[in-house]
Amino acid sequence: MTMEIIKAENLKHVYKTANGEKIALDDINFSIDDGEFIAIIGTNGSGKSTLAKHFNALLKPTAGKIFVNGLDTEDDENLWAIRENVGMVFQNPDNEIVAAIVEDDIAFGLENLGIEPAEIRRRVDLALDTVNMTDYKNFSPSKLSGGQKQRIAIAGAVAMRTKIIVFDEPTAMLDPQGRREVLNTIQKLHAQGLTIILITHFMEEAATADKIFVMEGGKILKIGTPREIFSDVKEIKRLGLDVPVAVELAARLKLPQKILNAKEFIAAIKNL
Ligand code: ADP
Ligand code: MG
Repeated sequence: MTMEIIKAENLKHVYKTANGEKIALDDINFSIDDGEFIAIIGTNGSGKSTLAKHFNALLKPTAGKIFVNGLDTEDDENLWAIRENVGMVFQNPDNEIVAAIVEDDIAFGLENLGIEPAEIRRRVDLALDTVNMTDYKNFSPSKLSGGQKQRIAIAGAVAMRTKIIVFDEPTAMLDPQGRREVLNTIQKLHAQGLTIILITHFMEEAATADKIFVMEGGKILKIGTPREIFSDVKEIKRLGLDVPVAVELAARLKLPQKILNAKEFIAAIKNL
């Protein structure tokens, strides 16, 4: 049985600017099931970050509605219940880490909730293990790589036991190794049943999601599985986006099979 965990109905967001108004989200509709892994792709300015900020009520709709875990984000009484359910991980890990020691940083949110020390200890240890950072628990975050810092930021959300984690380009500032570490962590959380929303410019990352939302000009143009979305290479490129390298190569070689990733590409080449 699947259950809807997020629903947007005619969601609209308009920013007021010095020279008028900017429609950043233009009447969008979607629903996300509990436990789904959604990737959001779209060119700069298409509205991805604005949408991300609606998932935990950092922004409120100008019109329309968004419900998170059944809670209307517009209702201020729901704010804490929503924030407890939705973790956010942003692009720059240096902006997210507050404490001088890794484990204190992960404990920070829990201390603010007034949770008992023994329970905090348990949750921090489990979160460290989940993101594979136990060996670094006494380190200063300033000594960590970007990928390690992002995993500490993720551990903070894991320790809070949020049901949903929204990632807004979490790997944009990382080297390939850091990107792999963070993506592996995201996939592990998905396997554990969390709902994942991943905004990314890396199409290889998007290809591992259950579904992709394609945004353009404040609208969701398309929702589909990665296979569906990347089946039309021309259309994706027309939007100014890339496709995974394996998809690109298969299209150039005019392989008969529809390829989604490197593994499928290699299998198809072997069968030629
Ligand atoms: P993306 O994350 O896809 O790059 P954003 O959601 O950041 O897109 O921005 C969507 C549109 O809204 C862009 O045109 C951007 O310039 C505009 N915008 C974003 N934030 C603000 C703001 N605080 N004030 C005014 N306009 C904004
Ligand atoms: Mg953005």
